[in-house]
Amino acid sequence: MGFVTLKITVKGLVQGVGFRPFIYRIAHHHNIYGWVENRNDGVRIHARGNKSDIDSFIVSLKKKRPLASTIKSVSVEEISSAKYTTFIIVNSKSDSDEITDISPDIAVCPACLRDMKEQSHRINFPFINCTNCGPRFSIIKDLPYDRNKTTMNVFQMCDVCAGEYSDVMDRRFHAQPVACLKCGPRYELISKYEKTNNPGKVLELTSVIINNGGTVSIKGIGGYFMACDALNELAVKQLRQSRLREGKPFAVMFKGIETLREYAMVNAEEQELVQSWRRPIVLLKSRKNLAFSVSVGFDTLGAMLPYMPFHYLLFSKLNTPVIVLTSGNIPDEPIIITDEEASKKLLPVSDALVTYNREIFNRVDDSVQMVVNKTPRSIRRSRGYVPEPVDLEQNVNGIIACGAELVNTFCLGKGKQAIMSQYIGDLKNWETYEFYSESIEKQKMLFRIDPVLIVCDLHPEYLSTKYALESGLPVVKVQHHHAHIAACMAEHNLDEKVIGVGFDGIGLGDDNRIWGGEFIICDLADYERVTHFSYIPMPGGDKTALEPWRMGIAYLYKVYGSDLFKLNIPFIKDLNRKNAMDIIQMIDNDINCPLTSSSGRLFDAVAAILNICTHSGFHAEAPMRLESVADQNCLSSYSYEIRHTIHVEVMIKEIVNDIINGITAGEISAKFHNTVISIIFAAANKIRKKSGISKVVLSGGTFQNRYLLESVEKKLTKENYKVYIPGSIPSNDSGIALGQLVIASKRRELKCV
Ligand code: ZN
Ligand code: ZN
Ligand code: FE
Repeated sequence: MGFVTLKITVKGLVQGVGFRPFIYRIAHHHNIYGWVENRNDGVRIHARGNKSDIDSFIVSLKKKRPLASTIKSVSVEEISSAKYTTFIIVNSKSDSDEITDISPDIAVCPACLRDMKEQSHRINFPFINCTNCGPRFSIIKDLPYDRNKTTMNVFQMCDVCAGEYSDVMDRRFHAQPVACLKCGPRYELISKYEKTNNPGKVLELTSVIINNGGTVSIKGIGGYFMACDALNELAVKQLRQSRLREGKPFAVMFKGIETLREYAMVNAEEQELVQSWRRPIVLLKSRKNLAFSVSVGFDTLGAMLPYMPFHYLLFSKLNTPVIVLTSGNIPDEPIIITDEEASKKLLPVSDALVTYNREIFNRVDDSVQMVVNKTPRSIRRSRGYVPEPVDLEQNVNGIIACGAELVNTFCLGKGKQAIMSQYIGDLKNWETYEFYSESIEKQKMLFRIDPVLIVCDLHPEYLSTKYALESGLPVVKVQHHHAHIAACMAEHNLDEKVIGVGFDGIGLGDDNRIWGGEFIICDLADYERVTHFSYIPMPGGDKTALEPWRMGIAYLYKVYGSDLFKLNIPFIKDLNRKNAMDIIQMIDNDINCPLTSSSGRLFDAVAAILNICTHSGFHAEAPMRLESVADQNCLSSYSYEIRHTIHVEVMIKEIVNDIINGITAGEISAKFHNTVISIIFAAANKIRKKSGISKVVLSGGTFQNRYLLESVEKKLTKENYKVYIPGSIPSNDSGIALGQLVIASKRRELKCV
């Protein structure tokens, strides 16, 4: 018999996901002797067995891996034979630099859902988990990942749980949060009338409230959520009012995939994503109406499936197959994680508070994804994704990237890995800033980062910039759109010159203007701005973001001068003449009118001129509304001109004429989108012809527009461009930090910092 001994190294997400016990079990199954150990670069195995057993062992390793693990590589090397007589799990050394791969939180697995019905000590136990599932990042305080370093540390394991925990053949072997009805955390319901921690009663009362059209604030994995019946318009409307909630669509949770398919269009990729253990919110096309106030007129739906045991238990009692589940916070503040704050801020606007007595250590919101051209695209990267690192080919060690201002995340460099933070939010107020700086501290500690360099945006007023400047570390400043493009390059491991298309709302340029419709040639170190939308005043500066009508005026004024008031279109007729005159005065006298090349502001202007959205209730509402009316079957477009910069004055004229001629908003919106697509295509062609570069990187918040992204990618690919789009990293400002990180590291490498 030919016996061999192999040294096997498995890289990927293999720690904290039950990988070593899994290896142990398949080793036993295939008569393999040796050991398995966690190393900082992955899992190392020494395996001795006869040739055919070894082969099937490796096949099992790749094919039967734990649900939440990802194998990036398996390297196998034959070593001189060793005399192993058993197979053992070697204890992980707690050497301080070890283990950077902390698992994200994992949705409850099917085996645990079965156990929840069958295991006598876990019947309906809402904290059931195993090595394949359960909370991870949200409860971790320190490394190595052991129970006493998590917020489970206050719960003493009972004998039964301890037995399972130490039995290597058990699915709960070394499952750090293992617990049961006897020894685990408990839910508690608090309302004006009662307070109970009887598990059956908590569930009963919660379901009664929701069934009767009430609102319950429920503590989730990474923060509080507010829930109500998504088919009950009165209930949803009330929830919306109670939260002083802008018009933002609410995310919903369906009981199961069957009901989800009834209400939304789901293709194969979307179904896989929505059912994945990461359980993100997935943006889908609606099929059947929910209560109007859920999506407030949008034809899309942010849908997810249950991911906590409690969700499953709750749906078994509810009459409705779908609930609103939206983050519990005061607008612009981070999602609430403590009972104290929840009682203060959520209880007064809910019929009850449902909490549990395990602390959330790391706050994580739900993640949001969409599928475009069959590929998942991240919009918000948080629960289920964080803190999975992005593997790079360059050394980013010791760099802190501070991110942008809106939808902020930060990013830490550890060796050749970028660890992106959870979604922080808009860094505009104290609460969010506190969450931001506190999280940087926590994660510096957690991942053993010794910061030597810090990198931020050019914008001097961003709180993230101020954080960098106050850190005392050497500071690198990076232009916003260069960072957008570099983030995408980092994700795809590109380190060369590319054509970058950075389209978004706003980002400060190196000429002190507000950029956002940019074509650049760049590599990781530097960029050259090639062309952009021609500048236009942004009357009122930041105010334009929530008042698209201002941009409508700015564009019409540029094209028609004061004659704009003679235009026979609803936008002008509905306009407050005095306010409009004020805007024109501001433009004429250059008062608070920064110049911008923003594509987002152009979308705002068109939405306003079409009278679809003159005032927006939330960030990017105008472009979203414009996209949602676009007629998918219309192929025509408007005129434009690319000289030194891109001019759309003629397009604005043609749009106004179309409105006057009674062309539908759907057709006009489509023609506008097609024009932007055509502009991107034409500009890319021009740049390729001159530079010979045919790799195009598309990034920035504007590319969250499905209509736009779908066609641009198809069209460029058809013309032999290699197109790169952020997938696992958001293309909005949440991705900025990663771009900053790789640019800083490149400049450090080239010694220009
Ligand atoms: Zn499980
Ligand atoms: Zn127990
Ligand atoms: Fe941006």
